[in-house]
Amino acid sequence: MSLAEKLTRNNIRDLVPYASARRSMSGGRIWLNANESPYANEYQLDCSVLNRYPDFQPASLIQAYADYAQVEKEQVLASRGADEAIELLIRTFCEDDDQILICPPTYGMYAISAQTCNIGVKKVPLNSDFTLDLPAIEAAKDKVKVVFICSPNNPTGSLVAPQQLKAVLDIFKGQAIVAVDEAYIEYAIETSVASWLNEYDNLAVMRTMSKAFGLAGIRCGYTLANADIIQAMSKVIPPYPISWPVAQIAVQALSANEPDSGLVRMQQQLQQTMVQKQRIVEALEKLEYVYEQVPSASNFIMFRTEKKKALFETLVEAGILIRDYSSQIMLDNSLRISVGSEAETDALLSVLNEFKG
Ligand code: PMP
Repeated sequence: MSLAEKLTRNNIRDLVPYASARRSMSGGRIWLNANESPYANEYQLDCSVLNRYPDFQPASLIQAYADYAQVEKEQVLASRGADEAIELLIRTFCEDDDQILICPPTYGMYAISAQTCNIGVKKVPLNSDFTLDLPAIEAAKDKVKVVFICSPNNPTGSLVAPQQLKAVLDIFKGQAIVAVDEAYIEYAIETSVASWLNEYDNLAVMRTMSKAFGLAGIRCGYTLANADIIQAMSKVIPPYPISWPVAQIAVQALSANEPDSGLVRMQQQLQQTMVQKQRIVEALEKLEYVYEQVPSASNFIMFRTEKKKALFETLVEAGILIRDYSSQIMLDNSLRISVGSEAETDALLSVLNEFKG
């Protein structure tokens, strides 16, 4: 046993790290495996400030998030992606025998962050129609400190109904934070629960600039919650979490004043994504080897095929990377495709249509 192995914390020695799209697969020329935006935008950088540490929470960025989400700036915490927010919630609120509760199939980082912090994970699987199993959640509530609910849910693309979210907030009233992961909310913005913050003191909403805003490369996310939750999380976050370049770019991406502002561009690119998504949905419906696709409220589509392995490999041979979820609970035969640009969709559809299995 190496010294490093001998010294490694037990929970880390056993940890299987998150197999992110970029970590688990390399190569390919068309990347439809990480739910990113296919569109890159240009930004201005002011380098005259780079000799100074950034503000702990850059004021213009916090104001921009608050304006965009229509909350108070005291209700916002900027972090390095929503992934950091997930870990901050666990590190801030969970200790010893506390547990988090998740409803698989869902985003993998909730369980991995908990395991990193040596916190137990209660799993209450979704119903077969991907709704929440509320009686089972209620029955499992003992010791739970943070509940993670993802809507639109990754990897299924399904939405959680507002009545179900309210029921979960009520079940955990006075006991646990209910963290609603809105990483994909721009694709279903009318379903955001950010306006519930003043009603529920146990609600936290996680958001990101990585998806609809096309900024996965700068690692920029934020949490919306009441000021007490934000202050508690602020104790745990490292001293300078948001670099100046990140703050400058995110502020431009959120700007709303000029005709070609970041928000307008995001909306236009989102519309283009919806057009390409519709093409993929219609194509999948016609394919004989696809026996189910989950109605998606997001920029990715999950579907089932008995020929998942051969299809996945055929796409890889064509340079197109998608994601295989077929080994996960409830997701047998499931593959997930992120929606790309028009040219990427052309290439995808030509392989899908020609594939015989
Ligand atoms: N939540 C969900 C549901 C996601 O799919 C992702 C990205 N894969 C994240 C959070 C993390 O986003 P970020 O890039 O902001 O860390």
